[in-house]
Amino acid sequence: MRSKKKIIIVGGGAAGFFVAANIDKEKYETILLERAKNPMQKIKISGGGRCNVTHACFDPKELVNFYPRGNKELRSVFTKFQPGDTIAWFEKRGLELKTEADNRMFPTTDSSQDVMDILLNSALANDVQIKYKSGVTKIEREENLWKVQTKNQDYLADIVVFCTGSSPKAYKILTDLSIEIEDLVPSLFTFNIKDKTLENLMGTSFENAVVKIPKLKAEEFGPLLITHWGLSGPAVLKLSAWCARELHKLKYDFAINVNFLGISMEEANEKILKYKQDFPKKSLAQAKIFEITQRFWKNILEINQIEEKKKIANLSKKEKQLILKNLCSCELAVKGKSTFKEEFVTAGGVKLRQIDFKTMRIKELEDFYIAGEVLDIDAITGGFNFQACWSEAWLISESLNNS
Ligand SMILES: Cc1cc2nc3c(=O)[nH]c(=O)nc-3n(C[C@H](O)[C@H](O)[C@H](O)COP(=O)(O)OP(=O)(O)OC[C@H]3O[C@@H](n4cnc5c(N)ncnc54)[C@H](O)[C@@H]3O)c2cc1C
Repeated sequence: MRSKKKIIIVGGGAAGFFVAANIDKEKYETILLERAKNPMQKIKISGGGRCNVTHACFDPKELVNFYPRGNKELRSVFTKFQPGDTIAWFEKRGLELKTEADNRMFPTTDSSQDVMDILLNSALANDVQIKYKSGVTKIEREENLWKVQTKNQDYLADIVVFCTGSSPKAYKILTDLSIEIEDLVPSLFTFNIKDKTLENLMGTSFENAVVKIPKLKAEEFGPLLITHWGLSGPAVLKLSAWCARELHKLKYDFAINVNFLGISMEEANEKILKYKQDFPKKSLAQAKIFEITQRFWKNILEINQIEEKKKIANLSKKEKQLILKNLCSCELAVKGKSTFKEEFVTAGGVKLRQIDFKTMRIKELEDFYIAGEVLDIDAITGGFNFQACWSEAWLISESLNNS
């Protein structure tokens, strides 16, 4: 009988474990080397301990729009394994997923530990040997095999699957193999802003704001949240992801223009005029013209030095313009960034043209596969980053199992 081929998986995160969980044990003898003493630590803390496993978006064409980097390449990957397959995969192993109002999907148990347990048990069921505290330091070719070195031991393997996340040390292993890396920069962050428009308004949110970065001709819309330090919420996070590279170049010092209402200035003007007509005797403090909190409205009156007690009928044209400017075209200076709920993702990584996206193999290296955050692929928040890991890892195991 022909002996089994040997696979070494480097890195025990989402991508590495999904390969281990799907590999054919009849065909391969697999060892997973993990640097830390515990596996899947990012899954554990993900989604605030609930793990946002995927997103209820089932059309690959639509799904790729959530990936600032990698959207072109992922299209074919998602035709093979997409969120519907992820749901089925976990369900088959006893874990159901539920969809929240914003289409993010979590385990019904709200526990990331359950996701980890399934991945670990599936890998063990495939006889994968898992070796912790086994950080890989070097990989080189030796007589048609891969020699994978750790501090304690060297391993020989037919096939390497590289899933180290965005660890800088791991990139060195790849550059030594002549793999090109796109510079790493943070993605998914919130904007630090000190401005009286936002002062003492922490927790105030807007349902459908529009945030622009005029210098980059970039624009995003969606919910917006005032935080201790500035602005957060999907509109800001999406901008931070799409403009990750440019904002890094600007050293996170740039101007934004915010439309808190998400309607045009003309429309907002109409609303004020109509309100003025309908309720001329109401004071400005009492006026409820827009879908914003009274706290925010009063702050706008205050910073523009408009008397709260004044009747709306007496609102001058100039005062109205000031209000409209503040609400629909508010210029704010961003000075720095903060991480979003400790969730950050790295943009940059292995340049994508080196990968065959049918199998996730590195074209120039024999029997060397790669998946996960180590690649120059990342998404906005919502379960998309894990979905990319599951899909890429699935391609690797499928391609190996069928070869
Ligand atoms: C706080 C937080 C919350 C998040 N929440 C979500 C979420 O809810 N949904 C979502 O889609 N995305 C989320 N993300 C992003 C998501 O966690 C990552 O995209 C995903 O974990 C990447 O998986 P990976 O397997 O590529 O890398 P990782 O999860 O980083 O795993 C890589 C593994 O390789 C090991 N390793 C590194 N170098 C070596 C080496 N030299 N030798 C051996 N082992 C090595 C590491 O120790 C690690 O265990 C979150 C990220 C953070 C930081």
